[in-house]
Amino acid sequence: MAKPRSSADEPLDLEAVERELRARLAHLQERLAGFSKPPERGADLGFGKRIGDGTIEAVSRLTDVGVGRSLEVSQERIARALTKLEAGSYGVCDACGNSIAEARLRAAPESVLCIECARLAH
Ligand SMILES: [Zn+2]
Repeated sequence: MAKPRSSADEPLDLEAVERELRARLAHLQERLAGFSKPPERGADLGFGKRIGDGTIEAVSRLTDVGVGRSLEVSQERIARALTKLEAGSYGVCDACGNSIAEARLRAAPESVLCIECARLAH
């Protein structure tokens, strides 16, 4: 495979970024695989029976769902950053098209929005 053309004003090592993102993605997918396991037998216990006993379990499950959901969001973001790497648009904001500050990419390589747009998205 041909080496990607390098330019002096692009000191960010994109190959290293890609390795990092792929490693994170693999790790997230492993964790998500744990969350999406089908419920095991006995999983129905505690729901709609005795309110007192079921509540704590139900709450802890909701927390698990929340964690799983945030893992999914991270996974989507990293997958998007990898797509941009492949497309050659890595470091360009998805929303406004400006370049994302290099310091931001170094701190959070999965960033697909510039700091201004990320702020607006919250
Ligand atoms: Zn932007």
